[in-house]
Amino acid sequence: MIRAVRGMNDILPDTTPLWQRLEHTARVLLLSYGYEEIRLPILEQTALFERSIGETTDIVEKEMYTFTDRNGDSLSLRPEGTAGAVRAVLQHNPFRNQAQRLWYMGPMFRRERPQKGRYRQFYQIGAEAFGMPGPDIDAELIILTRRLWRLLGLGGLQLEINTLGTATTRARFRQDLVSYFSASAEKLDQDSRRRLHSNPLRILDSKNPELQEVIQGAPTFERYVDPGSEQHFRQLREILEHNDIDYRVNPRLVRGLDYYSKTVFEWLTTELGAQGAVCGGGRYDGLVEHFGGEPTPAVGFAIGMDRLIELLRETPLNDIARTSNEPHLYLIVGGEKYYGSALRVAETVREAMPHIRLVTHCGSDSFKSQFKRADKSGARIALLLGEDEVSQGMVTVKHLRISSGQVTVPQSELIACLEKELARL
Ligand code: AMP
Repeated sequence: MIRAVRGMNDILPDTTPLWQRLEHTARVLLLSYGYEEIRLPILEQTALFERSIGETTDIVEKEMYTFTDRNGDSLSLRPEGTAGAVRAVLQHNPFRNQAQRLWYMGPMFRRERPQKGRYRQFYQIGAEAFGMPGPDIDAELIILTRRLWRLLGLGGLQLEINTLGTATTRARFRQDLVSYFSASAEKLDQDSRRRLHSNPLRILDSKNPELQEVIQGAPTFERYVDPGSEQHFRQLREILEHNDIDYRVNPRLVRGLDYYSKTVFEWLTTELGAQGAVCGGGRYDGLVEHFGGEPTPAVGFAIGMDRLIELLRETPLNDIARTSNEPHLYLIVGGEKYYGSALRVAETVREAMPHIRLVTHCGSDSFKSQFKRADKSGARIALLLGEDEVSQGMVTVKHLRISSGQVTVPQSELIACLEKELARL
C-alpha cells in the first residue's frame, strides 16, 4: 500500500468541520479589521526564500523542499507566507508608501523532524500590514489575534514580546555574542558551533538543556537597543496595557527568521507539550526594500492552524463541529423503480430548503438496512418513498430521534410538513 508522505497528514471528515469553523471565523474577523485576502502560489523561486528568510536559518539550510525544474530553475515549496506576499505586492502593485492590509491561508512545507504539533506540511493563517511604521499597527495585529482566541473560546494563551532593534544595532549585538560564545566554544553543541559565525542569535534560541547555562550568561539585547526602537517598544507596551493585554517581555525571543526588526511576538500555550507556539509575528521594515521596492515598513503574523485545531478539540466548539456534518434528512427508497421519483423529491426539498442537509440512500438495500444507515448518519428525520407512497404521490416523514411516530403527506405538502417537523427538534 502506498502511504502518505511522512509528516504530511490527511485531515479526515471527522475533523474538517473544526477546520472549517476556524477558517470561517478567521475570514470574517480579518475582513472586519480591513484585511483583504491574497492567494499565493505554493511554489516559488528558491532565491526568494534564501534572500528573505536568510541563508543561514534552519529553514533555508535544511528544511526546504527544493528541486530543479526541467528548465533548470531552482524552485521550493513555500516554508512560510511572508516572502511570497512581499513578492506579490511588489510584482503587481509597487509600493508608493500606501497602507495595505493583507491576509492569506494555506499549506506551508518544512522538512522538520515530525512529532506532535510539528509536521512537514502544516497550515498557517497569516496577516501582513504594509506601509505603517508605528506601534499602533503592531498592537492591532496582536489585539486581532486575541479576538480570534476569544471567538474560538480559547483561554490560557500567553503573549511574549521583544524588540530586535534595527539591523545596525543587531550587528553590534551579534559581534558581542560571537565574542562571548567563542570564549565558551567548548560548551557549545555542534549546531551552535556551526551557527557561531553564521547566525549567533539563533544560539539563544537553542532548546538544548546543556546549553542553557551558557545562554543565560550571554549578553542580552536590551543594552543595545537604539532609542527609536526603544520608544517604539515602550509605546507598544503602553497600547497593549491600555487594551488589557497581558504580556511578558522575553529578551530571548529572537524567532527563527532573519528579516525581523523591532517588534517580535509569540503566543504560547502550555497545553501542547514542546510545540507550544501557536502564533508568531513581528516587524520586518527592511524586507521590501531588500527586494528592490521603496522602503516600506511592514509587520505581520502567522498562526499555526494545526496546533490551534489541537487546542480546539478540548473546547465546546469541538462538539458543535462534530455534529455539523450530519444530515438533517435521510431519504429511504423502496427499490430501483423509484430512483427517479426519489431524486426528484430530494431536489424539491433542496430547492425549497437550501440549508437543509439531505442524504439520499443510493443502492437497492432492504428497508431495514436503509433505516440502519439513516440512524448511523445522525439524521433526525427519514423520508420514505416506497411503492404505496409513489403510487399515491405521497411521502412518509418519520422521526428517528424522538418517538412521535410518522406522517404520510402528499408530496406537494412535503415542504410545509418538513418545516413543521424540523421546528419541533
Ligand atoms: P513561524 O513561521 O516559524 O514563525 O511559525 C508560525 C507558527 O506556525 C508557529 O507558531 C506554529 O504554530 C506554526 N508552525 C511552524 N512550523 C510548524 C510545523 N512544522 N508544524 C506545525 N506548525 C508549525
